[in-house]
Amino acid sequence: MKKKLLEWYKQHGRHSLPWRNTDDIYHVYLSEIMLQQTQVNRVMEEYYPQFLSKFPTLQALADAPQDDVLAAWSGLGYYSRARNLHKTAKLSPLTLSQDEKELLKLPGIGRYTASAICSFGYSQAVPVVDTNIARVLKRYFALISPKDTTLWSKATEILNVEFPRAHNLALMDLGSMVCLPKNPKCQECPFQKHCLGKEEPELYTQTKKTIYESLELFYGVCVKENRVALHYSTEKMYKDMLVLPRVEPLEENFIGSFKHSYTKYRITVNLYRAEEFLEDIVWVDLNELKSAPISSLIKKAQKYF
Ligand code: SF4
Repeated sequence: MKKKLLEWYKQHGRHSLPWRNTDDIYHVYLSEIMLQQTQVNRVMEEYYPQFLSKFPTLQALADAPQDDVLAAWSGLGYYSRARNLHKTAKLSPLTLSQDEKELLKLPGIGRYTASAICSFGYSQAVPVVDTNIARVLKRYFALISPKDTTLWSKATEILNVEFPRAHNLALMDLGSMVCLPKNPKCQECPFQKHCLGKEEPELYTQTKKTIYESLELFYGVCVKENRVALHYSTEKMYKDMLVLPRVEPLEENFIGSFKHSYTKYRITVNLYRAEEFLEDIVWVDLNELKSAPISSLIKKAQKYF
């Protein structure tokens, strides 16, 4: 089974991904953080190379102001990832520990990321379980709603200790390209012969429906002398990012509204011309907005400035 998996990987794996062709641990770490909630293509085309050209080393990242780091993350969402990345760089500006336990002490690094760094960056013989690998394991072993600890021990059980890095990357690619959430391509799968779940694969990976929350926001828009009034958010959703300041929604000042989706929120954004705000403001030059830590919500609102 392990041999077949590696043969499949050799032929079909995503070998050209840039973070798979580097031995720079910072690059591996950055890719893992970016990929946590974002599609591979988006990371590869819009963020990973750009971020590395701005902050080529952990030291450069550590030395940068947080505003610059958040600006480079602008539009990628889940901004705590960028804040934690920055904090970790400050704590470990030269390199990252090779010890999984030490890695787990760093901000934003959980069990998956620590294992991924050890496996993909340091080629250690440790198991890795991400969403894709979990799906393969659940089906291969026919596990219904297993605990995380069960998945990690199954991953350890099948780990190829001779080629652990390639093995984990292969499992990840298998989950992402063959053992798909819907209609897995079992005929193309190297595990087909021994997979216990192949008759009813979807039985083992039923997912809970995401519950979305509706949210209505009331923001003020004030532009003076080519500068716009913004506010450094203290709220969890956009912490330390520049957002529009909240205002009292007065009908006579209404200028427009639009819909925006962010994580589990379905947001209606209502904009009002305003001179007075409910929050502290900073003035940002409109020409400098591009390099400011703003979210895609603010980018959408820009047409009303
Ligand atoms: S045989 Fe099918 S269900 Fe089993 S691991 Fe392969 S793709 Fe997934």
